[in-house]
Amino acid sequence: MIFLPSYVKNYLKLACTLILVVSNVCLADEFPTKSLSLIVPFSAGGPTDAVARLLAVPMGKSLGQAVIVENTVGAGGTLAANKVAKAPKDGYTLLIHHIGISTAPALYAKLNYDTLNDFEYIGEVVNVPMTLIGSKNLPPNNMPELLAYLQKNKDKVTLANAGPGAVSQLCGLLFTSQLGIPLTQVPYKGTGPAITDLLGGQVDLLCDQTTNTLTYIRADKVKLYGVTTSKRLTSLPNVPTIGEQGLKGFEIVAWHGMYAPKGTPPAALEKINKALRAALMDPDVKARLADLNVEIAKPEEQTPAALKAKVEAEVKKWSPIIKAAGGYIE
Ligand code: ASP
Repeated sequence: MIFLPSYVKNYLKLACTLILVVSNVCLADEFPTKSLSLIVPFSAGGPTDAVARLLAVPMGKSLGQAVIVENTVGAGGTLAANKVAKAPKDGYTLLIHHIGISTAPALYAKLNYDTLNDFEYIGEVVNVPMTLIGSKNLPPNNMPELLAYLQKNKDKVTLANAGPGAVSQLCGLLFTSQLGIPLTQVPYKGTGPAITDLLGGQVDLLCDQTTNTLTYIRADKVKLYGVTTSKRLTSLPNVPTIGEQGLKGFEIVAWHGMYAPKGTPPAALEKINKALRAALMDPDVKARLADLNVEIAKPEEQTPAALKAKVEAEVKKWSPIIKAAGGYIE
């Protein structure tokens, strides 16, 4: 042990603090010096994956480093959220997640991360409508026929979802609880595999984002029963909303946001936010999203404060609805 007079110790402390501050500023200036990971909580080929892959390329261009999409699947998106919550706080691991980040606290008795305190918010990304679709093998051709069919065949109709906590599960839960008809739920690790089984006729129904379903709707590979928005979609003007067809007030929009681990340096967050905003202005991204009826978050929503407020409000909003619908998981 070396004994130093206290004034020397104080000088040393000050010098260390200055070195830390300067090195943080330098690191932030340099960021990013290597590729970034953008974690998608569901499997490849699904709607969240599609949005992530669309943004990764232009974001990478703005940042001067590749943004690599990684799929961490399972437990309705909560495994990925937990992974990012516990990742190094350096700006190199990001999460893109949808409304499920705010419904998981009500759906799960215990989560290994704190939804409101373990993340830095980067900004809102997109709002995606959903559609209730069915296998071509399912006899009903429209919603009235579907409702009559479900009354008679509730024991044999199956409803796919992307896991407990997925927005497809939430949509299915609200649909069945509003109808008072419990259906057998079939969980998958994302919409990608769920759609594959729906096309193959192994599962009957799925409520999921237009990002993915519109392709199959346009190709007439699935039956379409309704849209989950309060107004009809411009791309499907003749398709009634679910609310219009007897399920009054039925509405879900799969909004998406981008997150980093809590404690990520502000300068890195700012650069990521800038890259996100630029990607959302990219003409190709805009055209592709418009074609899928995906609405880009307004510029004032593409901010950390707006996303934080959104998550807080949505956690509050969904908790009583999910509990009333019986969606709680022990
Ligand atoms: N659409 C899915 C969900 O139901 C997830 C996905 O594959 O993007 O949450």
